[in-house]
Amino acid sequence: MMPEKGTTMRFIDLHCDTLGTCVARSGGKVRLAENSCQLDLKRLKAAGSMAQVFAAFLPTHDTAKEDGITLGPQDLFDQIYACYQKELRINRDTLAPALSGEDILKNDRAGRLSAILGVEDCVLLDGSLRRIASLYKKGVRVMTLTWWYENSLGYPCSPIPADTARGLKPFGKKAVRRMQELGILVDVSHLSDGGFYDVASLSQELHVPFAATHSCARTLCQHPRNLTDDMLRIIGETGSVCGINFCAEFLNGRSGKYTRIDDIVQCARYIRDKAGIDALAIGSDFDGIDSTLEFGDCAGLPKLADALAMYFPADEVEKICWKNALRVLTDALKGTAHRK
Ligand SMILES: [Zn+2]
Repeated sequence: MMPEKGTTMRFIDLHCDTLGTCVARSGGKVRLAENSCQLDLKRLKAAGSMAQVFAAFLPTHDTAKEDGITLGPQDLFDQIYACYQKELRINRDTLAPALSGEDILKNDRAGRLSAILGVEDCVLLDGSLRRIASLYKKGVRVMTLTWWYENSLGYPCSPIPADTARGLKPFGKKAVRRMQELGILVDVSHLSDGGFYDVASLSQELHVPFAATHSCARTLCQHPRNLTDDMLRIIGETGSVCGINFCAEFLNGRSGKYTRIDDIVQCARYIRDKAGIDALAIGSDFDGIDSTLEFGDCAGLPKLADALAMYFPADEVEKICWKNALRVLTDALKGTAHRK
């Protein structure tokens, strides 16, 4: 069955690094509206995007040194946040912040793309629950618990079994609970396997979904960043989602090389088989990956939808491209403290 060409698919992408890595770090040279990065508002809008999660990635340790970053995590977040506010002001005709699932739909009706603010690496919490509330007030709605380093919440994924088996620290468990109460989507991408299971059981207790915003399947591609079949099954059972990462290294094992559309489609089919169709989403990791994509950049998202349509019925392509992400954001952002 050939896909219907020219149909307008919508997209919600659960992760990109464009805001922090390209725009905020450029000292005003790179703008969100139009740039030469993998993602900008002009191309997103043309592609049919409905909402984009912009992660404020906070590098530390050697990664910060290599990137020439001298600011600590809190100061760096403040810098990225100021940039985010500025971009929202400059682009207010086309872009609006979303703090809830309803906001995404409201912005869409007004012809605006939704921006959802995330934090990648909760290193800036530094053991303080109050900081979660203060970030929530600033509009942060997605929190990636760890990056590649230990922090006050827990440990990163690792190829060493004993290391990745480590669960969340006591503060990590309290922090996840606070995020769920307030209405912040908890992201397990980068987290240790043991941490994944801790988040899953906390989520099961409160019946609130979580996400692996930018991860793929470990059976298809042996990488600690990817999810095992058992984790995928749990993602499905808890009504959570896995946003497929477009990085070649996570899809076909070719570090920094070429990502074929078919790599993504095969990953989607695999996750569908293990977790169910409701567990699939997109987590491009645009501007956080060094892969060359067969479909170019965010402008090529409709090509991905066309390729998915070769293997999935139209209603399932919609679920993968935006409906599942919208469902999970709507549920998680309500916050359990506000439930009736
Ligand atoms: Zn990441």
